[in-house]
Amino acid sequence: MCGIVGFIGREAASPILLEGLSRLEYRGYDSAGLAVYDQEQGLQVVKAKGRLQVLRDLTEEGTKVPGTLGLGHTRWATHGAPNDENAHPQVSQSGRIAVVHNGIIENYVELKNFLEGKGIAFTSETDTEVVAQLLEYYYEGDLLDAVYKVLHRIEGAYALGIVCADEPDKLVAVRKDSPLILGYGNGFQMLASDVTAVIKYTREVCYLDDGDVAVLTPDRIQVYDVLGQPEEKERSHVDWEISAAEKGGYEHFMFKEIMEEPKAIRDTISPRIREGRVVLDDLTITREDLERMDRFYIIACGSSYHVGMAAKYTLERLLRIPVEV
Ligand code: GLU
Repeated sequence: MCGIVGFIGREAASPILLEGLSRLEYRGYDSAGLAVYDQEQGLQVVKAKGRLQVLRDLTEEGTKVPGTLGLGHTRWATHGAPNDENAHPQVSQSGRIAVVHNGIIENYVELKNFLEGKGIAFTSETDTEVVAQLLEYYYEGDLLDAVYKVLHRIEGAYALGIVCADEPDKLVAVRKDSPLILGYGNGFQMLASDVTAVIKYTREVCYLDDGDVAVLTPDRIQVYDVLGQPEEKERSHVDWEISAAEKGGYEHFMFKEIMEEPKAIRDTISPRIREGRVVLDDLTITREDLERMDRFYIIACGSSYHVGMAAKYTLERLLRIPVEV
């Protein structure tokens, strides 16, 4: 699961974004990146495969990317190899809109074909890039308007952070089926995948609901519902310490992970069930290939070995084909 952090305020964003990302490292990732807007430099994007330290070194702890508005991301690749180009933020063709994303855009192939048909050139293999390109395609001087147009076209799960160089007074957050929180500060506002990323700066947070869109400006946050109507959100005060917050309020990481199992299972299975049918897009084996097979090997270790044992039992019973783990 990737990590998202966003900041808008009056002080340098990059060191805060890097600090926030470091608090999300426990979630696992394969690359990291920043997009920061500065009046003189415009929207600058720095991203790299590997540990957050690579990004820290590249940006000299963020000092090389000045600006008081920005987004940070740690990626866990689902579409496209873990490399520099596929790392987030993903940007639109002109480089004026940057997006960070947690989740999967299910209909990205269709949208990519549509945009390529309009002459738009893609630079990554990610599903996320369609969001950045589609935003630019619909952008007519009103970022929020473009966001709602894009939301009508994308399907899947997403938490998004969006910055547009033409509207540097705001940061936009969108949430559907992927976690996203807002942090209310004094003269600054933040967004993040988890409270751990903002807790050093503010303890006043809001947990966004599915369909919510938020516009953050240095002094204020306005949340809108799925229809674009302004809504009042309830704020929560986080009173855990960082170490406890990283464990989501649980005493141990192991206990937290055990309690997260129902959600982890739901998140793994639900994108693969469409209209009552099991859809395994990522499986490239054809039905004919499967029918020709007379033995299965499951290669796994640790917990996946135990899952393999359970699968062996089920597969042998259903298929009457030997399965070796
Ligand atoms: N699907 C996106 C990608 O592969 C986002 C992955 C994530 O949640 O980190 O780039």
